[in-house]
Amino acid sequence: MKLLVVEDEALLRHHLFTRLGEGGHVVQAVANAEEALYQAEQYNHDLAIIDLGLPGMSGLDLIRQLRSLGQTFPILILTARGNWQDKVEGLAAGADDYVVKPFQFEELEARLNALLRRSSGFTQSTIAAGPLVLDLNRKQATLDDAPLALTAYEYRILEYLMRHHQQVVAKDRLMEQLYPDDEERDPNVIEVLVGRLRRKLEGAHGFKPIDTVRGLGYLFTERCR
Ligand code: CA
Repeated sequence: MKLLVVEDEALLRHHLFTRLGEGGHVVQAVANAEEALYQAEQYNHDLAIIDLGLPGMSGLDLIRQLRSLGQTFPILILTARGNWQDKVEGLAAGADDYVVKPFQFEELEARLNALLRRSSGFTQSTIAAGPLVLDLNRKQATLDDAPLALTAYEYRILEYLMRHHQQVVAKDRLMEQLYPDDEERDPNVIEVLVGRLRRKLEGAHGFKPIDTVRGLGYLFTERCR
């Protein structure tokens, strides 16, 4: 998933960037609200992590601004211990959950995964479609109960398509799941990855859940639950 991290403490920002990246996410980490607004306008994020104590525009004002601009992605706030008013105000401003600093990364990750799951309409930590099951926590796929060997990029594409099942997903959106910004993008990469994914899913039993919608993108046709 593509995440926006807004944190002014350089060490924590770097830590979040690294750990979340290791967890299979594409992370854009910025130090202030102004930069966050710019990134949110340029790219499509699946979730934002916002520190409330920011220099310049506050985290609260950033959340209000994002919501008034029509951004609907889940927002997880980071707040200092004891500031219960901050939590209340943050949630009232449009945040969805909070983590109190200092925190264990595992707690942040668990809350983030829960928010991502709910925002795409799933209540379990797995997504199933016919013979295919994704384990969202372990980032693993099984087909007909056998482990399916996917590269990290193939997995990301598959998870994104399944989260948005029965919707046409543009190639650009998929590219955003692989690269943090425009520079390294090559649209052919998506075609190659989807081609490989299809061959792996087809396996022995001919499972073909990914359609091409010419000129628009890809469609995961199976119902996921
Ligand atoms: Ca801060």
